[in-house]
Amino acid sequence: MQVKKCEVCGKRTARYICQECGLEVCQFCFEPNTWVCSDCYNSLKRETSALESSQWSTPFKLFILGFILMFTGIIVVMIATVLFGTPVGAGTFIWIFPFPPIVFGTGPYAFWAILLSVALTVLGLVLFIRLRKRAR
Ligand SMILES: [Zn+2]
Ligand SMILES: [Zn+2]
Repeated sequence: MQVKKCEVCGKRTARYICQECGLEVCQFCFEPNTWVCSDCYNSLKRETSALESSQWSTPFKLFILGFILMFTGIIVVMIATVLFGTPVGAGTFIWIFPFPPIVFGTGPYAFWAILLSVALTVLGLVLFIRLRKRAR
């Protein structure tokens, strides 16, 4: 009698039967916690993580995202201040997420402040679109 081979890897002896798809799998292609094969385990895990992420409401995520981006902007301005030795204080950085940041720039580094804000806006938009896609 031939020993049944694992239907996932095809190398080791099958010892378990997946509850999800009914494949006969070896102990290495099997998740004893959920009693499914590794294939089903991965797809189940993806489903669960999708569920978990949707529990976070999108407005809250956007709030956190906006906060992080704003914080990043402040840090970059601080670094710029240290690097250029001149306060970039002439450029005021106002950002009401998810609207593009408003930059009032009169100093010599206003150009860089605007450039930075544009870069951050693009970054913010990309993240915004990604989050919206995932929320669906
Ligand atoms: Zn296997
Ligand atoms: Zn399975």
